Amino acid sequence: MQELVDLQKTFFNTNATKDISFRIAQLKKMQSLLKANEEVLHRAIYADFKKSAFENYTAELSLLYHDIQQAIKKVKKWSAVKRVKTNLVNFPAKSYIIPEPLGATLIIGAWNYPYQLSLAPAIAAIAAGNTVILKPSELPVHTSNAMAKLINENFDPSFFKVVEGGVPETSALLKQAFDKIFFTGSVQVGKIVYQAAAKNLIPVTLELGGKSPAIITENCDLKVSVKRLIWAKFLNAGQTCIAPDYVVVHTSKKAEFLALAKKEIEASNFLIEADNYVQIINQKNLERLLALIDKDKVFYGGNHDIENRLLSPTIMTDITFEDKVMQDEIFGPILPVLEYDNLDGILQQIKSRPKPLSCYVFTNDKKTKQKVLNEISFGGGAINDALMHITNSHMGFGGVGESGIGSYHGEYGFKTFSHYKGVLDKPTWLEPNIKYYPHTNFKLKLIKLLFG
Ligand code: NAD
Repeated sequence: MQELVDLQKTFFNTNATKDISFRIAQLKKMQSLLKANEEVLHRAIYADFKKSAFENYTAELSLLYHDIQQAIKKVKKWSAVKRVKTNLVNFPAKSYIIPEPLGATLIIGAWNYPYQLSLAPAIAAIAAGNTVILKPSELPVHTSNAMAKLINENFDPSFFKVVEGGVPETSALLKQAFDKIFFTGSVQVGKIVYQAAAKNLIPVTLELGGKSPAIITENCDLKVSVKRLIWAKFLNAGQTCIAPDYVVVHTSKKAEFLALAKKEIEASNFLIEADNYVQIINQKNLERLLALIDKDKVFYGGNHDIENRLLSPTIMTDITFEDKVMQDEIFGPILPVLEYDNLDGILQQIKSRPKPLSCYVFTNDKKTKQKVLNEISFGGGAINDALMHITNSHMGFGGVGESGIGSYHGEYGFKTFSHYKGVLDKPTWLEPNIKYYPHTNFKLKLIKLLFG
């Protein structure tokens, strides 16, 4: 691992990656490799957990293409030196900010959207002029292999290299003196990464998880709200970091909500019999999810197929914050439904828990919308929708508090992998001696007069 990091540092120090045309060429190469290998990539993700070609494109590759295209178009602008005002003390001088790459970066990916979560940070790192070592999640073995083959056969290891492996390999990587670590995964492992990075004072971005609430208020358009919510929850069999983890429904809407949710699931293709209903990533996770189901509280679903690692969309009702399913992030196709009749009360409950990665509020009432936005701190979210905010790279994407540190996508990704170097550039033709000894009363008066 150390040899590889040294190799990348040596390459970085040649300044090759500082050249914008080099970065654009690498991004174009990545784009054409992905396009030429869509079929191979789909076969791998299908083998791992039966993702359909439709979802492989819409929820993985299309986001990568968008980020690549945007970076190619904007990288020159993003990396331009920015002139800023100079303060009076420094007159006469110019001041500017130079965006510069951080250096050798490590990206650690999660398994649930294996291509997107590994390659989107890599795109940002490359656009910003860094070298990259990418460690995808080892759980979806076929996608990890596919990315390793694609990248390692086509990029120079001194610039971009995929290292496959699990805990031992990641632990060995975490001992190296990288210039940046970008991690996507659980809160628990996020803490391990943060501690390892602290030993070498390495800046980190942590894209973590948590329990993201969805609030169904009494003033929402229930039909379309349920349609959007059910899709967002059960896409990828609920294995989405920003999926609504649980829903709190106003008491007056509960019965209608449940009836519509059932109808919507049945109208969708989230069925364990369907060939494109995504599998649970492994047996361990399926067992973890099954243990969260309280049979007495199941309103709908609960069917499972152990051999094929499938769990049908499951709705549990009459849930309280004390239930087992409400203790940790679910990360699977189980939707607990809680009810409320006092908005302040439910917001207090949400606020007393770790800050979620996302929050969704379904309402047509402006005051309710403002109240939720004002009171709840969350990474990013949506009003009258769920999940779709991730597609808008103009907003950046990331968590807050326990759900993460930092953000990426679009220019936010570029910033995440850059240092902004502020430079004061002074001519030598004037050097007032006001700051120099002797420190007279007159000088002090003048300084006070000028600077307050
Ligand atoms: P995870 O934390 O188990 O694994 C993530 C990565 O860390 C993997 O590459 C894994 O190999 C590595 N890893 C695991 N244990 C390690 C250890 N002890 N030391 C060093 N490295 C280790 O997470 P996961 O199961 O892959 O993903 C699920 C979690 O990720 C959920 O909490 C989900 O919310 C979160 N997530 C967040 C985002 C986001 O963008 N914020 C996206 C997807 C997933």
